[in-house]
Amino acid sequence: MSKVHVFTAGPCLLPQVAIDNACAALKDFAGTGVSLLSISHRTKEWDAVMDECRALWKELLDIPEGYEVVFLGGGASLQFLYVAMNYLEHKAAYLDTGVWASKALKEAKGLGDAYALASSKDRNYCYIPKGFEIPKDVDYFHITTNNTIYGTEIKEDFDSPVPLIADMSSDILSRRVDVSKYALIYGGAQKNAGPAGVAFAIIKKDLLGKVSRYIPTMLDYRVHIDKLSMFNTPPVFSIFVMNETLKWLKGMGGVDAIHALDVKKAETLYAEIDRNPLFKGTADKEDRSIMNVCFVMADGYEALQDEFLAFSKTYNIVGIKGHRSVGGFRASLYNACTVEDVEALVKCMQDFEKLHK
Ligand SMILES: *Cc1c(COP(=O)(O)O)cnc(C)c1O
Repeated sequence: MSKVHVFTAGPCLLPQVAIDNACAALKDFAGTGVSLLSISHRTKEWDAVMDECRALWKELLDIPEGYEVVFLGGGASLQFLYVAMNYLEHKAAYLDTGVWASKALKEAKGLGDAYALASSKDRNYCYIPKGFEIPKDVDYFHITTNNTIYGTEIKEDFDSPVPLIADMSSDILSRRVDVSKYALIYGGAQKNAGPAGVAFAIIKKDLLGKVSRYIPTMLDYRVHIDKLSMFNTPPVFSIFVMNETLKWLKGMGGVDAIHALDVKKAETLYAEIDRNPLFKGTADKEDRSIMNVCFVMADGYEALQDEFLAFSKTYNIVGIKGHRSVGGFRASLYNACTVEDVEALVKCMQDFEKLHK
């Protein structure tokens, strides 16, 4: 079969070497003669994977002293609850930039006083709210840096007078982040860091332990830090593949090198969307995400939507149907997606234009 160009929003495309190494480890993990699926997580061979994975996160993101990285089950959605459990005492402010942000807020509301400081719901989340001031009387301020569904992204690290907490599920490892500005960065791995089944949390340790509630053991970040993410059985397969993905990223030159490629891919596709009279972008230009590119048929061409989707399949393009709340198309250009993949999509859009002009 000729090459398939995968643009799915998550679980995402992963580097081929990570998949090949996972296949080999399924049969024989680290020369033990035991499948990765059966290896005890209390072996030195497994410890080596955990240690390497933690170290790679720290190296790739330049994580300062005083922080720890943990790997947990339950996805980003359970992290929404972890956040409130571990940090919400009196009040918390959230930036409402989409469905994921509001789901995070909902979990906090279940435990205390939490509110949306600003929202872009008025225009179906096609922009990042501006001009708000982060209040000083809250326990933390929560943001979603990349809004996977709408293709908007916060591309800077805010200065915050209160602990800053970020869901970076879908843009982690796509740019250099000043981790020292955050109390917590978390996300599901399956958007850009690995396969589904594991979430990551980068935690500033000295901001824990400040709430008075009882925190259930499994929801207490301190437990997972103390136990090096092995309080209970970790998702070994997912962590293994995440580690292989990080090794690949390091080999690619790290976050700065991949960022340059990610920007190039996004600029190539946005340029075509802006040039091609059949299509238009949905996010405000200044807030466009480099990871998820959302677009629809331009005015007058709406009826061609299904036809373009079918046409794209003949170019081996997979996964560009937009999320139901935005419609149209979404091409996710995560790290493992190549410039050639994007060029194939651009060619497809150009050929479709020729058919209809
Ligand atoms: C996908 C996504 C989530 C939900 O992740 P799960 O791991 O499926 O719970 C949360 N936040 C953002 C920004 C996402 O893209």
